[in-house]
Amino acid sequence: MLSSVAGTAAIPEISLAWTEHSIAKLRDELIAAHGDSQRLRIQRGLLQVARFWRGDDGDAATFEDFVRAHFAGDQSALDAMFSRLEHLLEHLSGYMHEMNREFRQQLDLDLGPVLAIDELIGGYDPSAHVIDDFFQNKLAFVVLLNFPVTSLAERLTDARLWSRRQWAEVRLAQSFSKRIPAEVNLALAQAEAETGQYVSEYNIWMHHVLNAQGQRLFPPRMRLLSHWNLRDEIKASYTDSSTGLEKQRVIQQVMEQIVNQSIPAVVINNPAVDWNPFTREIAPGAVKDYDRAAASSNSNAAREPDTRYAMLQKTFFAARKADPYSPAAPTLIARRFDENREIPEPRVRAMLEQVLSSPLVPRLANLIQSRLGRRLEPFDIWYSGFRPGSQYSETQLDEMVARRYPTAQAYQQDIPQLLIKLGFSRERAQYLAANIAVDPARGAGHAMGAEMRGQKAHLRTRVEANGMNYKSFNVAAHELGHNVEQTFSLNSVDHIFLKGVPNTAFTEAFAFVFQSHDLELLGLPAPNAKQEAEKTLNDFWATYEISGVALVDMAVWHWMYDHSHASPEELRNATLQISKDVWNKYYAPVFGKEDVVLLGIYSHMIDAFLYLPDYPIGHLIAFQIGEQMKKAGSIGPEFERMVKIGSVAPDLWMENATGRPLEADALLEAAQRSFDVVTNAADH
Ligand SMILES: [Zn+2]
Repeated sequence: MLSSVAGTAAIPEISLAWTEHSIAKLRDELIAAHGDSQRLRIQRGLLQVARFWRGDDGDAATFEDFVRAHFAGDQSALDAMFSRLEHLLEHLSGYMHEMNREFRQQLDLDLGPVLAIDELIGGYDPSAHVIDDFFQNKLAFVVLLNFPVTSLAERLTDARLWSRRQWAEVRLAQSFSKRIPAEVNLALAQAEAETGQYVSEYNIWMHHVLNAQGQRLFPPRMRLLSHWNLRDEIKASYTDSSTGLEKQRVIQQVMEQIVNQSIPAVVINNPAVDWNPFTREIAPGAVKDYDRAAASSNSNAAREPDTRYAMLQKTFFAARKADPYSPAAPTLIARRFDENREIPEPRVRAMLEQVLSSPLVPRLANLIQSRLGRRLEPFDIWYSGFRPGSQYSETQLDEMVARRYPTAQAYQQDIPQLLIKLGFSRERAQYLAANIAVDPARGAGHAMGAEMRGQKAHLRTRVEANGMNYKSFNVAAHELGHNVEQTFSLNSVDHIFLKGVPNTAFTEAFAFVFQSHDLELLGLPAPNAKQEAEKTLNDFWATYEISGVALVDMAVWHWMYDHSHASPEELRNATLQISKDVWNKYYAPVFGKEDVVLLGIYSHMIDAFLYLPDYPIGHLIAFQIGEQMKKAGSIGPEFERMVKIGSVAPDLWMENATGRPLEADALLEAAQRSFDVVTNAADH
């Protein structure tokens, strides 16, 4: 009952003059023909079609003829329609995907020079217009007439009552629950490209950033991209006992000025001036460590004019254009949480707050403080001193890996042995190996799953002329985890519309399970309890850091929706206030300093449309899945059992996989255990 009521309520006003009359007429006609048992399906289907029907789809007579021809009025008609769609849509996406893969081959693989024509072909996506085509030829309307478009509330409330087939119908209808016009998609792509460009050129030339005394701390030519490289340089500086701390303080200054936009515009991506962020002095560069000619050496200290926030607003304005065409999730916030993640925003917020206010945080902060031998400073949210340590150097590992894998083919042949080491039976290992093709990657490596049963997943890995190195082996273990998940969750799932896992955080969690066993895959001893514990504490501290960043991203998007006519300056002030509020609540008590704005530094906040919460959710999911694997004892069979659940709602998935809904407890418990291991070990 609940589902049909909520489903109807989710459909807003009906726009054409004749629709109301046609709907009433057809409803009575169809109920008379198919019986009162079909009443709810008939009402819902008519409204779903009407919601997306535009004037150019046809007049009242066309609408009525269409409905009469395509409503499946009994179970056997519906079954026939469902299985037809299941078969055809699998083949459509399967062959589209194969075309895409072939078209991108020269760009993705290490196959020699890339010609101009390869860029052209690789950029072409044959599937780009499929949804448009299916609204045009009315196949999308057939789906909307017969299968339920659901809200997240229904998918959560009714989740346990639905059969697998009902879940598959829900997923089928979801793929047609939006009809976004081409010009809106174009605006979205433009905003993404423009902000991505802004972010990707936001470099700081560190040799030209001076400390408070006017000295150069960073080497020539060091160019750090905000925020990733800046943050990673803070992390790397913990091992530099002479100038590390000072470097970290300088980088914090730089980051804060990027967030509050007091950074002089002339220092962005410009090595021709020297900048003292403490005194705000700018001078023509005294040292030349760059080759390009066009660098500007003017000493104008004018600040960046809120461009950062104007960019963020571009993504908001573009995202908002899609709102009217997405009735089941009418804001970008709803699309992210209700559709992409399928975890309600309040639940995500509660889990993040649980991590942030964990009693373990101050205790861990004390441990870090004692390891550093000083009071914490704000940049220590990126503390990187929990180190698993290893008895082998990177060079030794490189040699071992290169000997074993001189070519991508050698890795391919070893896949069954690798999988057997992870507890897969010989038969499963061979089956998986036969479904995974290893290709030499041009870049760092990636995994590409198939879209149709019988097609292979592809593992792209980097192999140098003198063989694979350890870094690539570690990445390949991650990608192999993806490929195994992709193979099972495509080929062993009961309905093709349920292939995969609930969302990308789950995909990554399975890849991390493989990656974290890379030493054992090399035949080396597994990390001991102390090493494991250090790694867990590292993950917990990273989750604490990124949970605050995610809360800022979420609050900023709400502010933008609440203040859609704001100026970039107003958005800047709001973002600063939000960053300070989150900091003051969850970090200031630990760090002993208020009003820090560092949580606003992430570049993804500017160009990634509310993506940041995926990081902490990913950590939580990875822990919950990892802990379950440990309980089961062996990875292989448990991995297969879990990924066969398919893409149902995350909570339902997690209950089937671990007996518990999605929650932060697995991470918090593991972190507490690890804290005890590390502090007890230190006592002895
Ligand atoms: Zn991955």
